[in-house]
Amino acid sequence: MAKIGAHSLILEVTRRCNMCCDHCLRGDAQNLDMEKQTVDALLEQVGSIGTITFSGGEPSLNIPLIRYFFERAREFGVMPYEFYVVTNGKENQMDLATTLLEVYPEMEEPEWCGVSLSVDQFHEDLNQFPIVKGLAFYSAQKEHKDFWDEKWILRRGRAYENGLGSADSTKEFCIEDDGQDGIMVEELYVSAEGCIYPDCNLSYEEMRDCYEEVPVENATIYLKGLLDKEAAEVA
Ligand code: SF4
Repeated sequence: MAKIGAHSLILEVTRRCNMCCDHCLRGDAQNLDMEKQTVDALLEQVGSIGTITFSGGEPSLNIPLIRYFFERAREFGVMPYEFYVVTNGKENQMDLATTLLEVYPEMEEPEWCGVSLSVDQFHEDLNQFPIVKGLAFYSAQKEHKDFWDEKWILRRGRAYENGLGSADSTKEFCIEDDGQDGIMVEELYVSAEGCIYPDCNLSYEEMRDCYEEVPVENATIYLKGLLDKEAAEVA
């Protein structure tokens, strides 16, 4: 069976959140976690993973699923080259740090691993020193201490409702034949609902209303179909 190679795999591990930021591109939080079956169905079809990013909602609210992903990726022999997580720092930070530290030595490219803390005028000010800041792979790229220029905010979800940020175009799947009957995909986003998308920056509403519903179980068939269609158009 053809396998998927993902340069960037993003798992929306939960749609829950413990903050309610005005600029949130997702929209209102939902009481929904990714299920283990989604991870299994995905990994059965995957041959390689470059970066794994845990997204949400707030990813630290579903650390059991993050742990489960690494356990199963190890069993399937498809551990990612590196990981990346952005957290709001409000809860479960010791658990998050421990989970990432445990798998860090197994990463092929540890120098590209990262965990970042959202610090800006929109996120709740926690007035504390979060544990993740002490990690060797902590990255300050999401810290905008004084002011985050609104031009970088995507006008989606709650940002759209609040008239914040700028509009941006959405992406299509960027795929190519891997030369061995498999498919390389640039970015593969898997929602907590268990569907695949080509763009990690969609609101929940856009995922529901603007995209074909493709369950992760059908990811290979769907992407192969897109590849065949592209080849037919070129011929
Ligand atoms: S921006 Fe992040 S922390 Fe803020 S509401 Fe959205 S998911 Fe939650």
